[in-house]
Parts: sequence; C-alpha cells; structure tokens
Amino acid sequence: NATLLTGSAPTRARFSFEVFPARSGAAALALGHAVQHLSAADPDFISVTYGANGSNRDASLDLLKYLRNNTTALPLAHLTTVGESREALRQTIHGIMDAGVHDFLALRGDPPRGASESDPSVLGSPSSVELLEIIAQVRAERPPLTSVGRTVVAAYPNGHPQSRSRSEDIDWLIAKQGAGAQFAITQLFFRADDYLSFVAEARDAGLHIPVLPGLMPVSTSAQLRKVASLAGQPAPAELEHEMEAEGGFAPELGVEYAVSLARELLEGGAPSIHLYTFNRHEQVLAVLRELNLLTPSPVG
Ligand code: FAD
Repeated sequence: NATLLTGSAPTRARFSFEVFPARSGAAALALGHAVQHLSAADPDFISVTYGANGSNRDASLDLLKYLRNNTTALPLAHLTTVGESREALRQTIHGIMDAGVHDFLALRGDPPRGASESDPSVLGSPSSVELLEIIAQVRAERPPLTSVGRTVVAAYPNGHPQSRSRSEDIDWLIAKQGAGAQFAITQLFFRADDYLSFVAEARDAGLHIPVLPGLMPVSTSAQLRKVASLAGQPAPAELEHEMEAEGGFAPELGVEYAVSLARELLEGGAPSIHLYTFNRHEQVLAVLRELNLLTPSPVG
C-alpha cells in the first residue's frame, strides 16, 4: 500500500481517489458504502476536499476520521487558507493531526460564494506557499511521526484562472516545491497533451516532484460542463454529442473517455492517476478494472 508515499518502486501504475464530505444523512450513508469499496481497491490515498461545494469544514474532519478509523486507506486532508488567519490555520492543522491524519494538500481555496478574487478577505489570505510553511512549523512543534507525513499541492496544466501565462504557473509550482511540496495533483483536463506538455516544460524549468494527473469519469452532461469549467476548456465535442444522444446520462461513455486518457498519460510517463470520484465508486473502479490496475479484486 501507499507505494507512491513510501517511495518504493511500483510494479504497476498506482492510483488514488478524491471524495468530498456528504451534505445530508442519506448522502453520508451512501458515501460510507462508497469509501469501503474505494478503500478495498487499495489506493495510495483517499483525499478529502475542504470547504468546497458548500460543505462545512467539520464534515471534512469527520470524513477524515471515518477513513482513518473505519478503512485501510490513507486519508489526505485538503486544507484551504481563504478567509483564515495563520493562527486559525495552525489550530486546524493541529486538530487534523490530533485525529491521526498527517498528509495535507495545501491550497489557497476558491473565494467563498458571493466574493470575488479581489475581495480583501481573499487578497489578504495566506497563499498555498505560506500554508506549506505553516504546516512545516506545526509538524516541527509536534512529536516526530513514525510514518511519513506528506505535503501535496495543486497544479494547473491549462493555467490557473488568475495566471497570465504557463510560465507563471510553472514558476509558482516550483515555488511550492521549494517550500516543501512532495508531489502535486492537477486540476481536471481533457487532453493528454495538456498534462504531458505542462510537465515536460515544468521539468525543463527545474520541477522534479511527481505530478499526478487528476481525472474524472463523468456520468452526465451536467458533470461534463462542470469539468469543462474547472478545466478552463470546452469539453471534447464528440463526447458531448454522444452524451447528449443518450439523454445526458451515460456513465459508460465517461468511463471509456477516462480509460483512454489514463492510458495515454501512463504511457507518456505519468507516475499514477488521481481519480475524482464524485463520491461514487462504480465508475472509478470500472476505469481501474479496464486499465488492469485492480489487484486484488475489490469487494462486491
Ligand atoms: P495558489 O497556489 O496559492 O495560487 C494559484 C495561482 O495563482 C497560481 O497558479 C498562480 O497562477 C497564481 N499566483 C498566486 N500567487 C502567486 C505568486 N505569488 N506569484 C505568481 N503567481 C501566483 N478548493 C477548495 O476550496 N477546496 C478543496 O478541497 C480544493 N481541492 C482542490 C484539489 C485540487 C487537486 C485542485 C487542483 C484544486 C482544488 N481546489 C480546492 C481549488 C483551489 O483552491 C483553487 O483553484 C484556488 O483558486 C487556487 O488554489 P491554489 O492552492 O492552487 O492557489
């Protein structure tokens, strides 16, 4: 388990998952079921979003604790700085570590609903690089760990909306590497070359940490539009049309697209794949099964 995190050579491509806290009791029950299946697939880690999708932050901590106490998966905590003071962040990090979770995805976070990028609360928030420094300080104050606590950051193959050029994104990613990031996970994208050319340029500029491509097998046209807005790119026209032809619901098309994208990425040198699950296990496990990455076979 956790091949990527322990550094031993993987015998086959590895994978990890992202989930978000449930927004209702019924959704929490379904999520408990899904994470059992995800965990049984033996991922390197399962990351839990923070403050995103309107979900509250205590719910993120509860989900991290659930993963820690009820599954064999390694939980990785997303943490955002927007609207937080350094002291509040320190307390939050201590709280997460007190729960036995030591791995973080350090993010600035999106502005809260109704606020813009130029809002003083957003502009005045610590950056992701400052968050990496705060995490390192908190780690140094605590008893040494028996396991490795890793720090992860976000990368944007098609550019962060605030960035003016690819080289700015690459410089910023290298600054995160300099502040202690051990690997990066990308924003969603549709075309293998977006990732491969970004990583190649970043390597030339001095990036040496692994960059995990983030993929999501979409089930519906609405999800496809959501991915397009996150990717900052139009959805592939053929996929969009085929999905519409199925009445806007076609999980098998999303799986097929993700499988072929993952194949190109792994053949192009991606170290592993990070799957955005949308809190469902069926599609992401179907992708891994098609790629022949599931051993041992998960339950169910
Ligand atoms: P930063 O790394 O701080 O900066 C983002 C961009 O701003 C940089 O790429 C760069 O273009 C520019 N920039 C900022 N400062 C500088 C500088 N000093 N010099 C040059 N350029 C600069 N959001 C949530 O709210 N919750 C989540 O759980 C969550 N999970 C995510 C997981 C992944 C894998 C990804 C890719 C994104 C996630 N997000 C989440 C969204 C993320 O918070 C937003 O994209 C946010 O706008 C940027 O966060 P960041 O940490 O990448 O920002």
